[in-house]
Amino acid sequence: MPLTGIEIFKLLPKTNCGECGVPTCLAFAMSLAAGKADLSACPYVSDEAKEKLSEASAPPIVTVSVGTGEREVKVGGETVMFRHEKRFENPTGIAILVSDNMDDAQITERIEKTHLSYDRVGLTLRPELIALRCDSGDGVKFAALAKRAREESASAIILMSEDPAILESGLKEIADEKPLIYAATKDNLEAVAELAKAHSCPVAVKASGLEELAQLTSSLTESGVKKIVIDSGARTLRKALEEQVNIRSLALNKKYRPLGFPTIMFAGDMTDDHMREAVIASIFVTKYAGIIVLSDFRGESLFPLVVERMNIFTDPQRPLATTEGIYEVGGPNENSPVLLTCNFSLTYFIVSGEIENSRVPSYLLVMDTEGLSVLTAWAAGKFSADLIGAFVKKCGIADKIKHKKIIIPGYIAIESGGLEEELAGWEIQIGPREGAHITAYLKSWQA
Ligand code: SF4
Repeated sequence: MPLTGIEIFKLLPKTNCGECGVPTCLAFAMSLAAGKADLSACPYVSDEAKEKLSEASAPPIVTVSVGTGEREVKVGGETVMFRHEKRFENPTGIAILVSDNMDDAQITERIEKTHLSYDRVGLTLRPELIALRCDSGDGVKFAALAKRAREESASAIILMSEDPAILESGLKEIADEKPLIYAATKDNLEAVAELAKAHSCPVAVKASGLEELAQLTSSLTESGVKKIVIDSGARTLRKALEEQVNIRSLALNKKYRPLGFPTIMFAGDMTDDHMREAVIASIFVTKYAGIIVLSDFRGESLFPLVVERMNIFTDPQRPLATTEGIYEVGGPNENSPVLLTCNFSLTYFIVSGEIENSRVPSYLLVMDTEGLSVLTAWAAGKFSADLIGAFVKKCGIADKIKHKKIIIPGYIAIESGGLEEELAGWEIQIGPREGAHITAYLKSWQA
């Protein structure tokens, strides 16, 4: 059972030195209990207390890192069943499968696809893993593939074989990249555990069913391997979904440690149809895969998948927000239009994108509405005439333009009267309600 804040407090030094970033040991204990702090932030915890606290403050699902440095991908570390309870912590890692039986051109094509990335609301979205599967039975060939993956892709690597000798060949080439070793099974457990320990790499366990999985992870943890990813072996949608939910529920609600690990799924093993595979993957982004291996990356399914993942793994209590300020779009001058919008990121990117499309250089004033969209902010009293007036005066736009005209979103046209009072001498213009109409509006705008 997790310790309460008070129980944790009793184990802390109680000197209130503040080095952990909060003023008191009690505040640190409360943050620790809420999962908002890391024990390592306090340099003065005794070893004995550390042991007790590490165990007690560990998330019910272990966090596992695959790869190092810029390639590092963290999976697991989840603490809730449902996103709205708190938030999901570590986004599902998405991997492309590459077989060492593919010809050179195919391998090159797959590796190149690991560089696919998309810009969305100011974030770069990309898949971050490459899964190398040994189908040839040839350790030399597999090691050569591992070497290529390290040199030509920027992804964290999964080495796939059930033969410890083959895995070792791959590890000899790239062990310092800390790849995920897939997989330990009931037949090779000891040998693969030794490899994981010798190279300090995370290891995936594959079983046929949850019972066997729990036995294997228990054996592994007893042997000293702690960074584990689990594969229940299910290869049908229904069975896999049932097991994903059961694993999460047992780990969180029953504190069942043998299943408290991130999972790995193989969407491509459940269908031959590319679009169906994408749909299956999208289901397991929500429930509850740590890593999903796809048979291939295709833009038309990868993009929606990474966008879905971004939406699921953002904090539902904190809207994506853009920094308040004056944004120059297309090199505006003193005669350029001035548009006002809120700082909900999606709104900002739509509006700035439409201004760009119009090819009418403009100033875009982004006001801090706590990440709320135009109508929501207005309804919450955060986008009203008095606040907008104060923002426009302090932001300094008046020094950049000759005219005194400001275009407000059509949805808050009702604030125009109040704004005329707040911004004496300014002409308040009502812009379009929808972003899609901004281009036409700006093309006909005159200073
Ligand atoms: Fe207390 Fe440790 Fe934080 Fe200092 S660093 S205030 S001793 S918890």
